[in-house]
Amino acid sequence: MQTVSRAKVVEIIVHSEQVREYILELEKYRKFDEGSFLQLSLDLVDASEYWPESRTFSIASKCDRKSKRIRLIISKVGSYTTRIFTKLGVGIECTVKYAFGDMILPSVDVPIICIAAGTGVAPFLSFIEKLEESGKLDNLKLYYSSKTKQVLYHFEFLKGCLESNLHCFTTREKSEECHNRRIAIEDILIDTDAEYYICGSQEFIAYFYEALSLQGVKKIHKDEWE
Ligand SMILES: Cc1cc2nc3c(=O)[nH]c(=O)nc-3n(C[C@H](O)[C@H](O)[C@H](O)COP(=O)(O)OP(=O)(O)OC[C@H]3O[C@@H](n4cnc5c(N)ncnc54)[C@H](O)[C@@H]3O)c2cc1C
Repeated sequence: MQTVSRAKVVEIIVHSEQVREYILELEKYRKFDEGSFLQLSLDLVDASEYWPESRTFSIASKCDRKSKRIRLIISKVGSYTTRIFTKLGVGIECTVKYAFGDMILPSVDVPIICIAAGTGVAPFLSFIEKLEESGKLDNLKLYYSSKTKQVLYHFEFLKGCLESNLHCFTTREKSEECHNRRIAIEDILIDTDAEYYICGSQEFIAYFYEALSLQGVKKIHKDEWE
């Protein structure tokens, strides 16, 4: 059963003209599994009302009942996300319906291998925050690719907490802390006991899904955004 809640924007971080991070404070906060996604509508509605036009976004933060806050990383790609960028300022309310999805953090201790491109890191930020809180971050490796280092979102945080379990790739810029090329299957550790998670463009997901399957990996989860 999903919860419908008013959500007030408390902070906006502008990463670029195309990408912004929204910190929302929810009126009705309920427990959700890390990795879940929500529906965001600019219309203000209650649970009893017809659900209006909305768009889907991954929750990029751990469940935190104390703060009642969630983080979204939103890429402006079309009409609705353009309206979000225009209308959703600090102090403005919107409506969210949550939580959805089954690409969630496993409840048992297993190796976790995440492969992300660009804003596709969003659900993994939620995983990482949760595992950091429970002292189990050693279980997770992140392979993260973007055009430039500036758009490796939360790079310093990721580097600080994942250390050698973070592997970054930049395709359009040379950077000392990253591999300066496209990420490929040969870069990924193959461990058939691990749970694999992929999030990025359709092409990115299709490539790694097929390549991992060919390597005998069975437990592959993917979040397709388009
Ligand atoms: C499970 C899930 C989780 C998601 N999580 C996130 C997230 O955390 N962050 C995020 O940013 N997005 C996320 N998305 C994607 C997000 O929902 C879509 O990007 C959003 O719905 C786009 O809405 P829009 O109205 O702005 O774009 P639309 O207008 O609906 O456009 C949709 C697609 O069409 C393309 N398009 C639009 N207009 C044109 C045009 N004129 N020419 C060519 N192509 C065009 C756009 O590039 C876009 O890819 C997620 C999607 C799913 C399914």
